[in-house]
Amino acid sequence: MSRLCILGGGFGGLYTALELSRYPWSEPPQITLVDRQDRFVFSPLLYELLTGEMEPWEVAPRFRDLLSSTSVQFVQGSVASVDLKSKRVMLADGRSLDYDGLVLALGGETPLDRVPGAAEYAFPFRTLADAQRLRTHLGFLEEQQEQPPIQLAIAGGGASGVELACKLADRLGVRAQIRLIELGSQILSGFAESSRVAAQQALQDRGVQVELRTQVLRIEAANEKQKDNLLLHVRRIDSEAVAADPVHTVLWTVGTQVSAVIRALDLPKTEQGRLQVLPTLQLPSFPTVFALGDVAAVVDAEGQRVPATAQAAFQQASYCAWNLWAVLTQERPLLPFRYLSLGEMLSLGVDTAVLSGLGGFTLAGPLGYLARRLIYLVRMPTLEHQLKVGWNWISRPFWEGLLPR
Ligand SMILES: Cc1cc2nc3c(=O)[nH]c(=O)nc-3n(C[C@H](O)[C@H](O)[C@H](O)COP(=O)(O)OP(=O)(O)OC[C@H]3O[C@@H](n4cnc5c(N)ncnc54)[C@H](O)[C@@H]3O)c2cc1C
Repeated sequence: MSRLCILGGGFGGLYTALELSRYPWSEPPQITLVDRQDRFVFSPLLYELLTGEMEPWEVAPRFRDLLSSTSVQFVQGSVASVDLKSKRVMLADGRSLDYDGLVLALGGETPLDRVPGAAEYAFPFRTLADAQRLRTHLGFLEEQQEQPPIQLAIAGGGASGVELACKLADRLGVRAQIRLIELGSQILSGFAESSRVAAQQALQDRGVQVELRTQVLRIEAANEKQKDNLLLHVRRIDSEAVAADPVHTVLWTVGTQVSAVIRALDLPKTEQGRLQVLPTLQLPSFPTVFALGDVAAVVDAEGQRVPATAQAAFQQASYCAWNLWAVLTQERPLLPFRYLSLGEMLSLGVDTAVLSGLGGFTLAGPLGYLARRLIYLVRMPTLEHQLKVGWNWISRPFWEGLLPR
């Protein structure tokens, strides 16, 4: 029996595992999915946990539940290293896994070493634990009723920064003053003009102060005792003057780096550390090893550079599963990945979003929100989870209305 090992249970890894388990194998392989967490995280919906629009089980279902009706074996453990020559994966707790076919799908991390003080004082926003920690922290700040407005700064005017700013502004209302700090000359660089215009309007409507061409230099505690009183050192890029502004909370959304496991592999990589792969998603010198999602720099069959997004990882998963099956069974040819950009979506506060699709099609406001929720519902892993979330979405307004306030 061949052994397939999939490292990372995100959009790339989990969807590859689910697809592989549905294949008509003449000799079914042993499929093992490894993740350090016990839950898959549907990251585009992580913001909804801050506003209570969705519940943790909806956004982050357990792997064991998702895989219960499949032949995929789930191993919770942190991958420490991979020995590609001896075909062995080492876990941090000392366990090891031997494989015949391997999928590298360990995703990205938020680098907190870009400015002094970010690792100690800033909140990253990538994992379920990050969202829960921020939610607890916001609750704590909200309880300090007699305090002046909460000063909140978000570093990075990309999608994460903009979406966080809008959701937090809706949650905190007049209790907070929110700044969105971006080094470039515009927010949402690389996004469609229509998305940017809708986002700018949403930020303005919510009183978010957008500071462009501004660099975060350092974060430090204003005094040793109270870690929620911070000083944020910023500088406009056309000026020498440095301002040290008092803030309560800094959120860090700038950059993505690949994990230490991928960095340690002696393989061809891009400047950003992403693995160079063939259009079939194979590593050039290891035909039974595949990489996809945020760890892989993919140029598809048409020569397009594929972005590091959930949409791309989701599409790659089907090709990865097919190609892994094809390489092991030798029954059919491998297929080069073809990326189809289906547009972009951004949540812009509670119950509102913008969707910019093919041919300049744009849907904004509550209709955009509805379309985004529906699209994400059908993208969720397993029909059972889709049905549970869909039912909760429909029934929640009714049972919430029955609960005493
Ligand atoms: C807040 C947020 C919002 C986003 N919104 C969107 C969006 O709206 N649209 C979009 O297209 N993209 C979005 N993205 C980007 C998208 O989430 C990623 O591009 C996508 O998840 C990449 O898939 P992946 O499989 O490569 O990695 P991931 O989905 O990140 O999965 C990686 C998995 O590997 C596991 N892992 C990592 N290291 C180890 C280790 N050492 N051992 C074991 N397990 C490990 C992690 O726990 C994780 O489950 C968003 C990202 C974030 C953070």
